[in-house]
Amino acid sequence: MKITKVEAITCVEEIKNPIKAPISIPYASELEHLVFKEYRATLVKVETDEGITGWGECMVRFSPTATRDIVNYISPLLIGKDPFDTEKIWELMFGAMMNRGHYQGFYIEAISGIDCALWDIKGKALNVPVYKLLGASGRPSFLAYASSIRFRGLEVVKETAKKFKDAGFRSMKIKIGQVPENDMATVRAVREVVGDDIELTSDANCGYDVKTALRVGKVLEECNVRWFEEPVRPDDYDGYRQLSENLSVPIAGGEAHFLRWGAKELITQGKIDIIQPNICRCGGVTEALKIHGLANAYNVKYLTHTGSCSAVCLASTLHIAAAFTDCYMFEHMQADWAKDQRNPLRWDLTPLPMDFDAETGMITMQDKPGFGLEINEDVIEATRVK
Ligand SMILES: [Mg+2]
Repeated sequence: MKITKVEAITCVEEIKNPIKAPISIPYASELEHLVFKEYRATLVKVETDEGITGWGECMVRFSPTATRDIVNYISPLLIGKDPFDTEKIWELMFGAMMNRGHYQGFYIEAISGIDCALWDIKGKALNVPVYKLLGASGRPSFLAYASSIRFRGLEVVKETAKKFKDAGFRSMKIKIGQVPENDMATVRAVREVVGDDIELTSDANCGYDVKTALRVGKVLEECNVRWFEEPVRPDDYDGYRQLSENLSVPIAGGEAHFLRWGAKELITQGKIDIIQPNICRCGGVTEALKIHGLANAYNVKYLTHTGSCSAVCLASTLHIAAAFTDCYMFEHMQADWAKDQRNPLRWDLTPLPMDFDAETGMITMQDKPGFGLEINEDVIEATRVK
């Protein structure tokens, strides 16, 4: 089989009435209008001479056409290659910029999307789900957690928690990392409203310094929260280590890190307990396998990150969660960035190749080839950036 065409497509839908910064970001009042002004995705479509097409996604938070331009620029490198050659192709793509400082950022997000599309092709060509290629059989099941409860006043927080519980979720994530007093009150309120049987997790999106994180971490422990995600800045490895050594709540991180070398710093210097790479950012499925092996050698659990991505990232990430036995929970995105405008790239681009059991809160994978995508071209056409 040979690759005949590689094309990146950027899709954007403007948000008319965005909520206040949905996650902690510094200088939120000045930045939120830019960072959260639209739903975005950059998709990669790879075609072959056997008529099989693979899809991947490049994680984007900003300037979404940057990854599109990179993918389109390096596409000649892939033409004529066998899409099964994922190791070699990955090394070729990485090699082009390895010694020029591109160990993270848009370049790695671009090659992540290409790599994912190749895995979709491999699954389709063999007529098996990607999770089977990665080592899982049957129809794997695992717990879903609803992501996320965002701080919008305690009443909205409680309503959202109740809504997630009523929808069947046995686990849910609370966004913190903003005003510590509000954050601690939020965690306590959610625990009270959902009861002790629901698993709670928390995510500060790098919003604290170490001392604040220590203070909030004590409340997370008191409320039996399952993990404390990105308490401090991505590069504050010493801060991660201090938190890990002084708190019993497991420390998680990794969605802002790239490649096995970024994971290595977080694991060996930061002493984290849980790593959460995003396959559409960290280097693709090929790189996720390496990060998983590294994490396993340090007894660090691997959980998947999805976040506010499109359904292509969600669907492809499900296969990683299905295949890695330490990945006990999947981030099932429920919250958009607007109250009255749902993200079509999240909800309408493709159905997810899974069934959700509202009695148990468990996801069970469907048995569909590749990532099991059914791309709705109408959504692409309606949102495509020319
Ligand atoms: Mg997070």
